Amino acid sequence: MKHLNNLNFIETLARGTRHYDQEIIKQSLLETLKDFSFNVDCELYRLYNTSSETTLSLLAVNKNNKIETFKNGKACNAFPGDLFSSINKAVETQSIVSLKTEENNGGTYYIYPASDNNHDIYTLLIQTTPYEIDEDEQYFVYGLLKLYSNYLHLIEVLKRDKLTNLLNRETLDTEITYILEKTSQKQFVFSKNKNSFTEQREIFEEHNYWLGVLDIDYFKNINDTYGHLYGDDVLIMVARLIEKSVRHCDLVFRYGGEEFVIIINSHNIDSATIAFERIRKQIQAHVFGQINELTVSIGINQIIQQSGTADIIGCADKALYFAKKNGRNQIQFYECLFDDTQENSENDSNVEFL
Ligand code: GH3
Ligand code: MG
Ligand code: MG
Repeated sequence: MKHLNNLNFIETLARGTRHYDQEIIKQSLLETLKDFSFNVDCELYRLYNTSSETTLSLLAVNKNNKIETFKNGKACNAFPGDLFSSINKAVETQSIVSLKTEENNGGTYYIYPASDNNHDIYTLLIQTTPYEIDEDEQYFVYGLLKLYSNYLHLIEVLKRDKLTNLLNRETLDTEITYILEKTSQKQFVFSKNKNSFTEQREIFEEHNYWLGVLDIDYFKNINDTYGHLYGDDVLIMVARLIEKSVRHCDLVFRYGGEEFVIIINSHNIDSATIAFERIRKQIQAHVFGQINELTVSIGINQIIQQSGTADIIGCADKALYFAKKNGRNQIQFYECLFDDTQENSENDSNVEFL
């Protein structure tokens, strides 16, 4: 490890934590580690701990001095040899665990877990080195990880709604803009590289996004009958049920009141239908104590680069309005609203949109 010059180091930390963007923070953590240690690959994960399982989502990686970050994480389940049990040990004991490995020419893994204020494990760093790291260096890395993790967690709190802990409305704009940028980049690659048409098309199709506005049916009745506090509990429960029905890479927002927005990455409209129907059915099947049955309606629109944020949400809202008009407890796609073959539109072809 490089000799640490205190002033340089503080300057690096100050520069790295100047931003409110988690991508820059992740990048800065790995760059700081790269600056102060040689030939050390590392991977930064976020941990999701439920009562039944622990899953890891890759946030950033430094491999052969090349850093890459993954905005909404990349699901990772496969770890070589005893690495996964060592990860669990580090998480349980909240301490650094090292593991010798035959891979990487007989290197060593160092696993560092960092908790947030609720003592949930928030991030985990795995370093892989061809040599052993001494104790001081390990504590330096551990301290740095904890500091950056606190900061990452703080930014995460700012992005979330206080009642449900889902992403908030302000974050929705940023995420849609990011998706529009990402899908337009993919299209650029697709049209430029005509020789590998099929291959590029597959890559592009992996990045189809669908935005659904979910609204609880007759929610006002719940407030009126059982009180506002009970209504709040129902909102929290609905939030958890939506989260349970989607993958970690999908995004769930509280849009306002009893409305939620869900962004799903799906190949095509059929798989998007399955995903949104799963959410609707999961909520309908849940027993909410005193309430007989709670249902939701969802209006869905594809996120495509020709549209702006307001248009995308506006069209999903129109599909939601259509679902409400047609009996609630259903999902509707904006692009199917004008489909003559759809029975619903024949019945209600004069529906006026908001
Ligand atoms: P629809 O099926 O047409 O959606 O009927 P609805 O009753 O759900 O719709 P409406 O818009 O009339 O009522 C929404 C209600 O949501 C009214 C408002 O009191 C309630 N609400 C909004 N925000 C909150 C909140 O944070 N907590 C609680 N408990 N209720 C909320
Ligand atoms: Mg509403
Ligand atoms: Mg409602």
